[in-house]
Amino acid sequence: MLEDFSLRLNNELKALHHQIFHSQNFVEVDCPVCGSADSTLYGVKDAFSYRRCNVCTMIYMSPRLSDVATLAFYNSKANEIYNEIKFHGTGSNIDQDNLVNYHNLEIILKRVGSPSEKSESLKLLEVGCGSGFFLKSAQNAGFDVYGLELNARLLDNAKKLLGVESIYGIDVQECDFPNEQFDVIYLRDVIEHIHSPMSFLHKLSALLKVGGILFIETHNVDGFIFKAVGIRHTCFFGFEHPVHWSSKTLGLALDKCGLDFADIKFESQDCTLYEMAHYYRESTFTTIFKSSNNKILDKFLWVILRFLRIPIIKFLDSLITPKVANLFGYGSTMKFIAIKSK
Ligand SMILES: [Zn+2]
Repeated sequence: MLEDFSLRLNNELKALHHQIFHSQNFVEVDCPVCGSADSTLYGVKDAFSYRRCNVCTMIYMSPRLSDVATLAFYNSKANEIYNEIKFHGTGSNIDQDNLVNYHNLEIILKRVGSPSEKSESLKLLEVGCGSGFFLKSAQNAGFDVYGLELNARLLDNAKKLLGVESIYGIDVQECDFPNEQFDVIYLRDVIEHIHSPMSFLHKLSALLKVGGILFIETHNVDGFIFKAVGIRHTCFFGFEHPVHWSSKTLGLALDKCGLDFADIKFESQDCTLYEMAHYYRESTFTTIFKSSNNKILDKFLWVILRFLRIPIIKFLDSLITPKVANLFGYGSTMKFIAIKSK
């Protein structure tokens, strides 16, 4: 099933790539965090170029896809197939997703307290709420929930699941929520999609109450697995990820928007030696054009992968490697919590 998925996705991505890869669909940009034009090439994958800012270390795509071309991707057959894994995946995918939602809600509740013990209701907004699974957990915990979701089908799912009308199919910049409205704003796997993150974060800061928290989950480009495999990683997907954050660059961006660092937690489900070797030997499902094979390296990695597949080695690898990465702040995914101080 997964092979069929990868083949269908790859065929559609190739067709789309061919259709949109023209200069009029690309925009040269400077660093989206500090505005500097001083940058170094970080890597090229599937003809998308990534740069590293020499001033603040932000990694971003330049030239990036224009808004029109990005919209063409989101409305494409390729994206529909891609979303099969993200939103309509196997039972284990959904279980795993719900587990992450549950942990994230626990982190939020520890910080803001239980809504049922407050004299006033606590308002929580999720930007990019998908089918509303996280919001359902938040609603069950007693939050007044609000959501924004641009995909019409997912928006409909979320409204049905939550039984509320406070889920809107508009961009956050277009919403007319009053300022200082929310106690919590939640973003999971969203910030890496945003072309102009500073204006986006300024808007979220304005929507937060003083003392409110912004919770952001995104991949950590300073993570151990990214240091090992670089742009081979699945997250380097030019059609929808123009920006790649580290704790340093995200902290800097939030600070510019009046949001103070409060806490950071790391998770590393994919950070194993096996995964790293695998990224070098096999293309992942977001890679359109496979890199040319070095036969000696290929053979070496085949041996390494066979060794890492031995059950006891695999068990130790999955037990120890992610924990070591998290311990030293090199986890694959970061959960960044910021507070609006004034
Ligand atoms: Zn910069």
